[in-house]
Amino acid sequence: MNSPIPDKTVVLTFDDAVKSHVAFVAPLLKKHGFGATFFVCNAWMDDTEHFMSWEDAAALHAMGFEIGNHSWTHAGFVTAQDAEKLRGELAQVEEALAAVGVPRPVSFGWPGNGFGPEPLAVLREKGYQFARRGMQPEQPYGEIRLGPLYDVTRHDPLLIPTSGDAYPEWTLEHFKKVVDRARDGRIAIVQFHGVPDIAHPWVHTPPEQFRKYVQYLADGGFHVIALREVGRYLPAAGEIDDPMARRRWPEK
Ligand SMILES: [Zn+2]
Repeated sequence: MNSPIPDKTVVLTFDDAVKSHVAFVAPLLKKHGFGATFFVCNAWMDDTEHFMSWEDAAALHAMGFEIGNHSWTHAGFVTAQDAEKLRGELAQVEEALAAVGVPRPVSFGWPGNGFGPEPLAVLREKGYQFARRGMQPEQPYGEIRLGPLYDVTRHDPLLIPTSGDAYPEWTLEHFKKVVDRARDGRIAIVQFHGVPDIAHPWVHTPPEQFRKYVQYLADGGFHVIALREVGRYLPAAGEIDDPMARRRWPEK
């Protein structure tokens, strides 16, 4: 029997192995006892000023945070042709993490928020249990919108939607709208990049804003967890038929 989902359950995710994750985000979350998932990829690690190293990922793991696989190159994994490439890149990240003592991830962050049935089959075959997509196709990319909440009875756990995708123009009011909907068995999944994100300014979150978001979660008694922790709420395998598993985004 799966556990009931507390109201105010929020999953925090941080993509692309940005240096500010280890320098600023993780210590702040730790102070509040919050969980989070950091989706790491190698794509930008040569830029050591702005991006984490594998050792940084190990430090986040040691702090108790979840390290998720975000592929090696951060290419799109959308088509049948992309599926074999994904298989190789999952292994590359797993090996790099193993070399610094981080266990094999159980979560995957779809790079660029793209997805498709054949890459999905690879994730399933490789034993991944959870994967986060974007707000697409329900909402257009790059706009301040409210994405779908995660409904464990309806969404494939390898196609968990983003409920709020943080952009630089986000306000505390918008953040509240994203997370206040987390009730009645639905979970708010929030997607962040760097805090700050100097290298990718279109997904930058200002640290002073982020402090407000975290304070709101703390003051409101939110249950803030990593993606892998949703496992305890899932129905038995085979009970979910998500039509999204037969779609791809972006569509050709
Ligand atoms: Zn990414």
